[in-house]
Amino acid sequence: MISPIELTQELIRFDTINPPGNETPCARHLGRILEAAGFETRFFDMGESRENLIAHIGGDGSKLPICFTGHTDVVPLGTAPWSVPPFAAEIADGKIYGRGSTDMKGGVAAFVAAAVKLAPRLAGTPGIVLVITAAEESGCEGANFLVREGVLPKAGAMVVAEPTSNQLLAGHKGVCWLEGTAKGVTAHGSMPEKGVNAVYKAARAALSLEAFDFSADEHSVLGRPTINVGWLRGGLNINSVPDEARLGVDVRIVPGVNREHLVKRFVEATGGDISFEMIATSNAVWTDPSDPWIEEVAAIAQSIMGSAQAIGGASYFTDAAALKPGMGNPPTIILGPGEPSLAHQTDEFCFIRRIEEAEAIFSDTIARWCKL
Ligand SMILES: [Zn+2]
Repeated sequence: MISPIELTQELIRFDTINPPGNETPCARHLGRILEAAGFETRFFDMGESRENLIAHIGGDGSKLPICFTGHTDVVPLGTAPWSVPPFAAEIADGKIYGRGSTDMKGGVAAFVAAAVKLAPRLAGTPGIVLVITAAEESGCEGANFLVREGVLPKAGAMVVAEPTSNQLLAGHKGVCWLEGTAKGVTAHGSMPEKGVNAVYKAARAALSLEAFDFSADEHSVLGRPTINVGWLRGGLNINSVPDEARLGVDVRIVPGVNREHLVKRFVEATGGDISFEMIATSNAVWTDPSDPWIEEVAAIAQSIMGSAQAIGGASYFTDAAALKPGMGNPPTIILGPGEPSLAHQTDEFCFIRRIEEAEAIFSDTIARWCKL
């Protein structure tokens, strides 16, 4: 038996700020704990001390294993000063403080503690697979690496222990990052009528995108897609008509949205002034909440939390965008002990009781899956 609270503290004390990450010492620490409990571990190195860990135990072939996943990297501390040391994992007032406490070392500790506790009983059952990734915060790099390497086993169900205050989420939005380019014709700044100003085109396009109508794309739980023009750049010198301007567009999509079709609609909405290039994308994730396994976990969470679970969705994305399709599209939930409002914040903390509740929810979820 290991304490999920002490394990959370141990994990926080590894500085895994991404960049540069340096997740290997943290992943190896988890690997040693899991190996001692009987898990088989495999490490997949992306170079520069960035290892991903896949650990499994059991697996009798009667059905696929249940997967728990989390990441070991954390985001930078930000410019505001912290009132607590960010890597000391101090405990006060029922909270563990530190970078990564909420997002998401508390979640990783909760499922590792649950898995270690039940490990002696998992031989001859469908078993568990743990996927502990590096480089999630920079765009699911570790999870995408594991998919590309072809090393992921199939899973029958997946729990992503990202911060939800132990509320069950059945999915999250996806991402579509676009770079748009407006072309113009340059001229002397004193004779603008002789040129075509690309900055004006890009500026009009930004306003058209702000007003873009997503009403036909609404998802019953995740709501509508959102759009944000994150940057706009154009022109070289003050006394020329600019012949090129570009804008970076962050679209958060919901299931059912066809990305290529969406880009065509953006071209139309901007009057053909902009050509768009997709620079990064990740899938939306969704499982029907009436899936029997989701209903089962919701009932477990409800009995442990003592309150009804209103199944929702997240606006942020997770490694499930890569891992769900990469592991055979199992029903997937996001549920973890962190506080969503504290992710990436100064003085980040996680409530101790939430970590204990999460460990209990994960233990019962494993016990049901493996019929212990
Ligand atoms: Zn996270």
